[in-house]
Amino acid sequence: MKCNPAHSVGALPGGQEEHLDHSQNRNFAVFLTAAMSTETQVDPFAAQRRNMVDWQLRGRGIRDERVLNAMTRVPRHEFVAEELRAQAYDDHPLPIGEEQTVSQPYIVAAMLESLALEPSATVLEIGAGSGYQTAVLAELAQWVFSLERLPGLAESAADRLARLGYRNVTVIVGDGSLGLPEHAPYDAIVVSAAAPKIPRALFDQLREGGRMIIPVGPAYAQELLLVRKQEGRVVSTSLDPCRFVPLVGEQGYPSGW
Ligand code: SAH
Repeated sequence: MKCNPAHSVGALPGGQEEHLDHSQNRNFAVFLTAAMSTETQVDPFAAQRRNMVDWQLRGRGIRDERVLNAMTRVPRHEFVAEELRAQAYDDHPLPIGEEQTVSQPYIVAAMLESLALEPSATVLEIGAGSGYQTAVLAELAQWVFSLERLPGLAESAADRLARLGYRNVTVIVGDGSLGLPEHAPYDAIVVSAAAPKIPRALFDQLREGGRMIIPVGPAYAQELLLVRKQEGRVVSTSLDPCRFVPLVGEQGYPSGW
C-alpha cells in the first residue's frame, strides 16, 4: 500500500490554505492509520519484503517486473522456522532443515528472470526444499510440478503451499535428476541443486525452444548455466558462479559430495 498524506492534505497554491476542510483531513488521517494497521496485522514483514525487492533485486539489476512483483507478494518468512523469521528477508541463504538451504533472494530472482516465463508456462522444478521458490514460480506460471527427494521437506512444502492458497502446484517425492516424464515436455526447468553435468533426462523433457537453469559443478566451483533447446541441441550460457547443495540422484551425484 502506498500512502503519502502530504499529497492529500498539503497547502493549496495561491495562499488558499485557510479554505482547507480540516474535518475531512482528519477523516483521511484516520483512514490511513486504519489501512496501515491492517497491513501490519496481515503481514508485519511487508516493509522488509519491499526493501528486499528494492535493494537486493532492483538495486542489483533484476528488471523483470513479473519476477519483482511475484517476490513482493510471496511471504518468504512463512517458509523458514519461527526462530529464523527475522532473517527471512536478509541477503543470504537460510537453513530449512535436513542440511538443506533456501537460496538467497537475489539468486532466486536471477534464476527465474533468466527463464523469461510466460503466464501460460508449465514448469518443472527440481528441489522443492521449503517451497519458497515453488511459490514464486506458481505466481509466474500456469502450473508447477516440483520434485523433492526428501519426503519430510516435500510434505511440509506441500502443506505450506496449500495453506498459503497456491492451487497450481504439485509437489512430488522422487529423484528429480530423472525428471518427471509423465508431464513432459516442459516450457522451463529449474534445478535448485548442483549436478555434475546437465542431466540428459532433464534436457529430453524440455520442449523445443524451452529453457533450463541449472547449477553445474563440484562443491566449490559451480556455475549457473542457462540451457536452451534449439533444434534439439544444447545451447548454453554461463551466468554467475554459485554454490548449491548437491543434486543427489541417478543423473546427479549418486551419494552427495
Ligand atoms: N528451492 C528450494 C531450496 C532448494 S535446496 C527453496 O526455495 O527452499 C535443494 C533441494 O534439492 C533440497 O531440498 C534437496 O533435498 C533437493 N534435492 C537434492 N537432490 C535432489 C533430487 N535428485 N531430486 C529432488 N530433489 C533433490
